[in-house]
Amino acid sequence: MAVDQTRPSYYQATCNDTTRHPRLEGSQKADVVVVGAGYTGLSAALELAEAGYDVAVVEAETVGYGASGRNGGHVCPDYNKSMAHLTKALGQDGARIAWELGNETTRLVGERVRKYGIDCDLKWGYLHAAERRGHVPELHEMAEEAAHWGYDGMRVIEGEELRSRLGTTRYHAALEDPRGGHLHPLNYCKGLARAAVAAGARIYEESRVLALDTGEKSGGNVSVTTADGSVEADFMVLAGNAYLQETVPFLYRRLMPVGSYIVATEPLGDNMARELIREDEAVGNMNFIVDYYRLSADRRMLYGGRATYSGIEPRDLASFVLPRMTGVFPQLKDSRIDYAWGGNIGITVDRMPHVGRIGTRCYFSQGYSGHGLALSNLCGKLISEAIRGQNERFDTLAAVRHPIFPGGRFRTPLLSLGMLWYRLKDALA
Ligand SMILES: Cc1cc2nc3c(=O)[nH]c(=O)nc-3n(C[C@H](O)[C@H](O)[C@H](O)COP(=O)(O)OP(=O)(O)OC[C@H]3O[C@@H](n4cnc5c(N)ncnc54)[C@H](O)[C@@H]3O)c2cc1C
Repeated sequence: MAVDQTRPSYYQATCNDTTRHPRLEGSQKADVVVVGAGYTGLSAALELAEAGYDVAVVEAETVGYGASGRNGGHVCPDYNKSMAHLTKALGQDGARIAWELGNETTRLVGERVRKYGIDCDLKWGYLHAAERRGHVPELHEMAEEAAHWGYDGMRVIEGEELRSRLGTTRYHAALEDPRGGHLHPLNYCKGLARAAVAAGARIYEESRVLALDTGEKSGGNVSVTTADGSVEADFMVLAGNAYLQETVPFLYRRLMPVGSYIVATEPLGDNMARELIREDEAVGNMNFIVDYYRLSADRRMLYGGRATYSGIEPRDLASFVLPRMTGVFPQLKDSRIDYAWGGNIGITVDRMPHVGRIGTRCYFSQGYSGHGLALSNLCGKLISEAIRGQNERFDTLAAVRHPIFPGGRFRTPLLSLGMLWYRLKDALA
């Protein structure tokens, strides 16, 4: 695994749930077996358990060990692609359903936080910030596109107003999107797990799936096998995303794990925090390799930026990310860095989520391409709908075709080269 997962994160240090789940032992049966206890798997497990299914979630490490427990915490609406792209891929009717789904993503997160009383510092408000003048028209287009599809709450802010909202001269404009926000990702993930268990799901930790039968060839039941046990079930949900690696070659060929890194400063105090992001939104820039940042509940700057496509992690993460942060906020050049960590983002060739079935009993969803906090919650829900026989919404996203990454075993160096080009473009645009 490219990214060193053992570096302590700010989220682990402030996690409010120490629940541990047993290892899988012996031969078990369930209606549905879920591989992976991140948002995708837990979201499907929660919905299915509430609908009365007997669900077993099998997790290689611990709940939220993957991207769901280590991400930027940005609750981004929609997809990583424009509606124009989706209309081309899905046609007008499919795009309408996809639009409604995109809108539902962040609402679903908010509803779950409320319904299950998840203590995860959820705050609403999102700013897309244009670092390059050339990005400003894109912001206007995004607002117009959303209005065209039925949401007119976005607003471009510029000049003095922008200066008073963000303590930096870095941006030409920003697009305000009240549907987005931020939260403590690990505490949210643990909250989903609690809700799933309360609804009757079983979670097994430290139980890596070493072999699986998707039922495709036999047409019979599905099963997963770990070192000490197995689960046989009617349905399987593959929710290992970028952490599943080569376990399922069909999925692996369509997904590239990319290392993304975050630093957390020392607590900055209320005054400095307000000076940096007055309204406490999550902020992301418009570059191809996105910088994403926000304040934590205890007023630290959590800044994510830069990525590795080579499979090689930088030795000193803090100095890898720091120039991005101090470039935007020189005020932070003397702030202590208390935590630096990373995780694997699963990206697809066209940056749309890869959702579908293998055979008739195995469902999967992966590759949210850095945009997955809210989207994975929704895709887990769509899988649960499909297993219950309501296919329309699931099939809309499953209709997006996903090419494999070119290059075979040379795909990583090829992607690295490609990304070098985009980094140059970001720097020169
Ligand atoms: C550093 C970073 C920053 C990010 N920032 C944001 C952000 O701000 N906003 C946003 O929207 N998205 C962000 N993302 C992406 C987002 O976190 C993911 O899209 C989302 O968490 C994916 O959830 P998931 O459940 O599909 O996968 P994961 O959370 O990765 O869960 C997969 C789980 O499967 C388990 N697993 C894998 N293989 C096996 C096996 N063989 N047996 C059993 N279990 C297995 C893993 O241990 C893991 O726990 C970020 C990601 C990273 C890494």
